[in-house]
Amino acid sequence: MSEKKAITAISFDGDETLWDFQKVMRHSLAIVLGELRSRVPGEASEGLNIDKMIEIRNAVAAELRGKTVNLEEVRFQAFKRTLQSIGCADDALARDLNARYLENRFEDIELYPDVIPALDSLRDEFTLGLLSNGNGYPEHCGLPERFSFVVFSQDAGAEKPETEIFSVACRQAGCAPAELMHVGDSLASDVSGANAVGAVSVWLNRENVRNDTDVLPDHEIQSLAALAELVKN
Ligand SMILES: [Mg+2]
Repeated sequence: MSEKKAITAISFDGDETLWDFQKVMRHSLAIVLGELRSRVPGEASEGLNIDKMIEIRNAVAAELRGKTVNLEEVRFQAFKRTLQSIGCADDALARDLNARYLENRFEDIELYPDVIPALDSLRDEFTLGLLSNGNGYPEHCGLPERFSFVVFSQDAGAEKPETEIFSVACRQAGCAPAELMHVGDSLASDVSGANAVGAVSVWLNRENVRNDTDVLPDHEIQSLAALAELVKN
């Protein structure tokens, strides 16, 4: 067994770890849908719903995989496609909708209540960072100046669970992989990626769901409140 190293840095996933992304995404899409219906009235726009918009966005993201990792571009292309799906090819409107979406998507983000207390309890002893496949910039999410390093997949050119993005985080944190603890809600991207690079993985399982995968975290917690205790042991 390799020698256990002391943790010096902790990286956090963003979406569904620090904030409820699904909630804010759906809320922002609802606002956009209202705008879209008022700008393109008729049966076709009335027939649209948020689930369909999410479906279109995911299809566009899958097509663009490997071509662009810029999430704002993906979202813009998805609004273009959404408009095309109701017979309205209008790039200017797609751009307006995208701007509206981004405005709300950042303004309405709510941190989970355990986030600030956890960061406060860890900040003196550890180098803290954000390591995200999303685009929730800390200053837009109520977390300005909370992190010493911030790594986004769209800047790193790789996404979790790829090893490269964890290496970028380690370089920015100034630590070896074994000295990094990574905390996230996704077994597939956070835990699996951290395990592959030799970092300490922490699965944040807020809903206490069963792990039916073969990805095993080093630690499992239900709240970020458990982190301080964990990292001191
Ligand atoms: Mg997440």
